[in-house]
Amino acid sequence: MERLRLTKDRLKQELSQCDLKPGDSVLMHSGLKALGWVEGGADSVIDVLLELLGPQGTLMVPAFSYCYAGRPGTVPFDPKTTPGSRNGAIADRLRQRTGAVRSAHPSHSFAAIGKNAHFLCDHHPIEHAVSDPSPLTQLLALHGKVLFLGCGTQSNVMLHLAEALADFRYDHLPFRPIWGEEYLIASPDGPIRRPVREHPGCDNHFPMVAELLLQEKKGSCHPVGMSEAFVFSAEDILDKGLFLLKQKPDIFLCHDPSCEACGPRREYLKSCGAISEVSAE
Ligand SMILES: [Zn+2]
Repeated sequence: MERLRLTKDRLKQELSQCDLKPGDSVLMHSGLKALGWVEGGADSVIDVLLELLGPQGTLMVPAFSYCYAGRPGTVPFDPKTTPGSRNGAIADRLRQRTGAVRSAHPSHSFAAIGKNAHFLCDHHPIEHAVSDPSPLTQLLALHGKVLFLGCGTQSNVMLHLAEALADFRYDHLPFRPIWGEEYLIASPDGPIRRPVREHPGCDNHFPMVAELLLQEKKGSCHPVGMSEAFVFSAEDILDKGLFLLKQKPDIFLCHDPSCEACGPRREYLKSCGAISEVSAE
């Protein structure tokens, strides 16, 4: 299929249809390729969004780097230099732009540009990948929004915060055991290791939350290029995640045999009595 040529003007026109207002603080998950051929590439997408959000607005993206000591190829985390991993071309570009602020978390850092960039990213203790205090809880304090652009809604990191706040919390168990239980962090005296307290895990089941919110008219979906943009309030995502976890503590655990995280987490929930032996898909 021929890829659509998306000019900056058209990108702006389409993104202006989304529920994004001047002054908003927005966490964006994104994919560039799915939009088509974008004139000016990732920078155009960032420029257009920053224009829409205006001087009082803030755009934040994941800059996750997964600097676990046991992960092959891991370099000691330095927020100034460590590249992101699997966050997409737009997020990677934002992290590297002049004026971007990056939080100092070795696995789950965020980068932001705009009025509240420092408020969102300045305080991100190693012990809190997602839980309070973190850029996600700061986003909630600002009544922020979550934008999914060209990437579906699976990479919904706000739901890892819901998992961390759930009655039956399982994120002390590793996402990938081979990555180990320590971070590797750069320091003037050489690499140091610090224990991992929170392991945000599998997101295979996360799309259900966006689907439920759209059914309830809490959120919007608009076409952008060859893909679409979804916008939700961060609070609505968190509330729906917590509601679902309360009803079914293993709601977000998948049955994919290749998933290293969900099986042990389900066994743990059984051992706590949170779920019964037989748990339906
Ligand atoms: Zn899984």
